[in-house]
Amino acid sequence: MSLLVVGSVALDSVETPFGKADDVLGGSATYFSVSASHQTAVQLVGVVGSDYPVHKLEPLKALGIDLAGLEHAEGESFRWRGRYRHDLNSAETLETRLGVFSHFRPKLPPQFRSAEYVFLANIDPRLQLQVLEQIDKPKLVACDTMNFWIESRRGDLMELLKHVDLITLNDGEARQLTEQANLVQAARWILDKGPRTVLIKKGEHGAFMFTRDSIFYAPAYPLEAVFDPTGAGDSFAGGFMGYLARTNDLSDANLRRAVIVGSAMGSFVVEAFSIERLLDVTRDDIDRRVADFHRLVSFDQGMPT
Ligand code: AMP
Repeated sequence: MSLLVVGSVALDSVETPFGKADDVLGGSATYFSVSASHQTAVQLVGVVGSDYPVHKLEPLKALGIDLAGLEHAEGESFRWRGRYRHDLNSAETLETRLGVFSHFRPKLPPQFRSAEYVFLANIDPRLQLQVLEQIDKPKLVACDTMNFWIESRRGDLMELLKHVDLITLNDGEARQLTEQANLVQAARWILDKGPRTVLIKKGEHGAFMFTRDSIFYAPAYPLEAVFDPTGAGDSFAGGFMGYLARTNDLSDANLRRAVIVGSAMGSFVVEAFSIERLLDVTRDDIDRRVADFHRLVSFDQGMPT
């Protein structure tokens, strides 16, 4: 099934306790699409400025990512500068430069309009809404967001919630959006606003999937070394949506499997800067990690006490 993503295609400058990288490939749509491409073909919609090193996007094409919806605009590319201190769970944004994103109006190529699985990655919710107006009849629409947009575009975000089936956000964002300290209550609050499924990510503490009738929890993979957490959330979403699009099964059991594939992809991306690790990971690596997850959470319930 076709999978479409709209989001940022960025140049990131990142500092972690283990090193520093300047102007490397980043952005929510970039991480998402590379991660998802290990499951299925991906159509990408976004914008880059005249300063973008477009030749560095060649490996994306080789992974089957269709860049027909990537606009090349006059001006500076979107840039994000962030820092992680010893708590690798939360990024400190040092600078966000919207550049060509501030005038961007997403235009879907005609062949993208029939996409069945749609991910509105982290960008201005007004742009996320504009994409939905151009889509025919998707089977599943999911969105992501972040503190930047919760603060500056709350009204648009609330409108967006009415039109999506699923939202992914991290625990801090869920608390900020809902003003609920308790995550179960935060999820209920969001479920009342439109989405049927809420995925709350908790960094190294895993992820929860909430629906009206069930809660599923997946731990994060216990890595010995996390190098750069940037993109973990988008790579999680890419694995999750890619798996759903490939299997085209929206049962609860399959959504749970998709959460594990997403968790596996999140665990790979943090092993190196930028999308480096996602480019060389193989389907065998992914399958092995999913099997590791299965062992990690299986236990024998034993005799009733
Ligand atoms: P995450 O998966 O949550 O770690 O997202 C990391 C990516 O989000 C980085 O590559 C950034 O370029 C991108 N990003 C950061 N701030 C924004 C923003 N305000 N809008 C869109 N993308 C952003």
